[in-house]
Amino acid sequence: MTPDRAAVIHWQNLRYRWPGQVQDCLHLAEFTLAAGERVFLHGPSGSGKSTLLSLVSGVLAARSGKLSVLGHELTQLSPRQRDHFRVDHIGFIFQQFNLIPYLSVLDNVLLPLRFSKTRRQAAGGDAKAEAARLLGRLDLDVSLYQRPATALSVGQQQRVAAARALIGKPALVIADEPTSALDAERQQRFIDLLLQECQANGSALLFVSHDMRLADHFDRLLHLPELNRATGDAQ
Ligand code: ADP
Ligand code: MG
Repeated sequence: MTPDRAAVIHWQNLRYRWPGQVQDCLHLAEFTLAAGERVFLHGPSGSGKSTLLSLVSGVLAARSGKLSVLGHELTQLSPRQRDHFRVDHIGFIFQQFNLIPYLSVLDNVLLPLRFSKTRRQAAGGDAKAEAARLLGRLDLDVSLYQRPATALSVGQQQRVAAARALIGKPALVIADEPTSALDAERQQRFIDLLLQECQANGSALLFVSHDMRLADHFDRLLHLPELNRATGDAQ
């Protein structure tokens, strides 16, 4: 299958229901995210933002409908194929960062390259230099590189998580409320850096937050409750 670079994400009539529930959590009609586009997805807590990100990144499988990411129809892939797809093409910044506590800052950033040849090749011949470049761009001092990731402040850990998501130039970067632990000034700075790096890499960015003050930086805003037909009425 030839990946369609024009559309990074395309879904149609996408439904997801958590096991044991009688109603869908998500029912979304149609959406396309173009290459390099930067979208701000917002909605109140519990509105299904993280669930949607898990579908787009192939952690969860849709109940029905179509979900194509970079030309790959995720609904046709096995869980194992989706895992490979994710590490090759998606940089994910988790709300709690999910850094590996016993690995150094540098090794945390290099982690996706261990699992993905695609990302290794895109990072270039000197992976450590590329990790250092990203950490430098994100204002992390060289003196921190060999420290265990969890010995860093929350703001520093967040930037390590961003460098890990960006290394190897994934076509899609997904961030799930990555700024919630930061003060307003640090949030702005972090988003500026994230946007700059995504632009330099040609990565599309799907950024999730419930904080509307951050929305100005993005090309497009999506309000999940407006898109979601699974509100319990009629559907
Ligand atoms: P948001 O990220 O917008 O806060 P979530 O996607 O985490 O929302 O949650 C959406 C809905 O799915 C909520 O009703 C939540 O209770 C439910 N949900 C989330 N995770 C699970 C899970 N692991 N099992 C069952 N239900 C879940
Ligand atoms: Mg969430």
